[in-house]
Amino acid sequence: MRTRLVLIGSKGGPAIRPGGPSPTSSLLEIGGRTIVVDCGLGVTRGLTDAGVNLKVLDVVFITHLHSDHVLELGPLIHTAWTAGLATTVRIFGPPGTRDYWHGFLQAMKFDIDIRIVDEGRPDLRDLVDIIEFGEGAVWTEGGLTVSALRVDHPPVTDCFALRFDHAGASVVFSADTAYFPPLADFAAGADILVHEAMLAEGVDRLVARTGNGARLKEHLLASHSFAEEAGQIAAAAGVGRLVLHHLIPADDPSIGEADWTAATRKSWAGALTIASDGLVVELADESSA
Ligand SMILES: [Zn+2]
Ligand SMILES: [Zn+2]
Repeated sequence: MRTRLVLIGSKGGPAIRPGGPSPTSSLLEIGGRTIVVDCGLGVTRGLTDAGVNLKVLDVVFITHLHSDHVLELGPLIHTAWTAGLATTVRIFGPPGTRDYWHGFLQAMKFDIDIRIVDEGRPDLRDLVDIIEFGEGAVWTEGGLTVSALRVDHPPVTDCFALRFDHAGASVVFSADTAYFPPLADFAAGADILVHEAMLAEGVDRLVARTGNGARLKEHLLASHSFAEEAGQIAAAAGVGRLVLHHLIPADDPSIGEADWTAATRKSWAGALTIASDGLVVELADESSA
């Protein structure tokens, strides 16, 4: 059974700019399942570009409710519905996910009601199962186990790293977090650690460009990890591959892959991937592992 990770949207933060990448979302195909992790702007187009038939959308995980991770959750489910979705989608998210979904349904009530009557579609409200989770075991089914670890992303308290295990293959997502050593235990021995990352030399330029200066910089430094720190977690966890994701900055023309690599190499000597939109990371075939 193939295990494949696709980095759909690779930038940290909600703003998009001409020619730049999209906010955070990922596709994880593991244990025969199609799992979407986070739903930043662009997730729907990114999934179809990765070859996913939205009709068979199955499971969605949201790490926390910052908009660069959840803005397009409702539009993704709604678009899957108009593409022919007729089976239940499970959405796992932190407390507040149900409120988001009900608010989205309310905002789209006119369209949803009219499509049910006019196009004979099933009621979208009956096709979604929301499961709000906390730290610990989240879900086990068909040999797939998912667990969550609360990470350090102030002022958001309900932000969770996620670990997916199936038949000896394991993928861990850090979610958004400042340097958080307990993540190393949580990610111990994983095949892939997808960790958020920030580059110090880009932060000042980003802050100047975005326009709310000191406050934004304060948030970034308190709530996110530098690439070197992501490397430290990967090394302590002994993972097979580190993937830098949720890049800050992601669209600074003077920062390229070589800069990310150089910063990470101070602490991590193993396999390394720097995310870009649509990039595919394959895991070894489980039956031959
Ligand atoms: Zn984020
Ligand atoms: Zn966040």
